[in-house]
Amino acid sequence: MAWDEILSIDPGESKPLLDRIEALFAQQRETWPAFSAGEAALARLERKTLTHAGDSIFVQVNPARRGSTLAKTDAKAVAARPCFLCPQNMPAEERGVAFEDLAVLPNPFPILRGHCTVAGREHVPQAIAGRIGTFLRLAAAIGPGMAALYNGPRCGASAPDHLHFQAAWIDEIPILRQLPATNVRAVTGFESFGRRVLMVDGEDAAEVQRVAERAIAALQRLGDEADEPMTNLLAHHANGQFRVLLFPRRTHRPACYSASGPERLAISPAILEMCGVLVATEAADFARIDAELARQIYDEVSIDPAAFERLLADL
Ligand SMILES: [Zn+2]
Repeated sequence: MAWDEILSIDPGESKPLLDRIEALFAQQRETWPAFSAGEAALARLERKTLTHAGDSIFVQVNPARRGSTLAKTDAKAVAARPCFLCPQNMPAEERGVAFEDLAVLPNPFPILRGHCTVAGREHVPQAIAGRIGTFLRLAAAIGPGMAALYNGPRCGASAPDHLHFQAAWIDEIPILRQLPATNVRAVTGFESFGRRVLMVDGEDAAEVQRVAERAIAALQRLGDEADEPMTNLLAHHANGQFRVLLFPRRTHRPACYSASGPERLAISPAILEMCGVLVATEAADFARIDAELARQIYDEVSIDPAAFERLLADL
């Protein structure tokens, strides 16, 4: 297939993006059995809530996420597989709607209701540089009901070779309900459930973009690598206000991911996990994970506390 065919059901940008996404999901439910099976499986997932120091997260057991959680994302493995975000490799039933030079596509292996992949229509590497403006416009177009999400190429993006964001309805994203309603500073750092997070607030998209880019540049200076600093991002737009959450990371996967025997836990944190939706692919892992184990995993994959202090001082 080509993008023309994928986007053939899209009525075009004269209609609001959120309405077109809802119509897309209805169309895909009718015509793509694997997609409706994925949605039905999501509705049946077992979930539990964990609480630490007043903040709570969900854990779900979601076997359909094995492909993503266990994905090998090293350059060699990526080069050896057909890119699932290029239209010629998509299932025949898959359709999407356009947003700027991106395509919003329903995720057949959802973590949350309305989980979308928002893929670039060109096969270019995953990178946030030069893309924050698009990311904020996407958040404004799908808010306040949905949020825009980004995984860095080395911390959760399952296609590090093909630019993509994600989107999901916010009602099941725990961290968004646990934040202060207003932020007197343009950028604030906080810690929750072992996670260290930067929060950027503002009305003006250009200003929010500038502050977020400055934070990413400061993070880049902390490390001594040429690659994009490891980050996951969320952007939400409501009541005329943008809110961006930036999770600086020190590692992609916790040590328990590659442990053997009873210590092993197949948890691979990406943006939704950082926002409080932990995905276990195995029932035994789901049963074993408790609040302290979850806190340790978040602490281990988040920027280390001393570096976080230096980052805040640099902003
Ligand atoms: Zn591709």
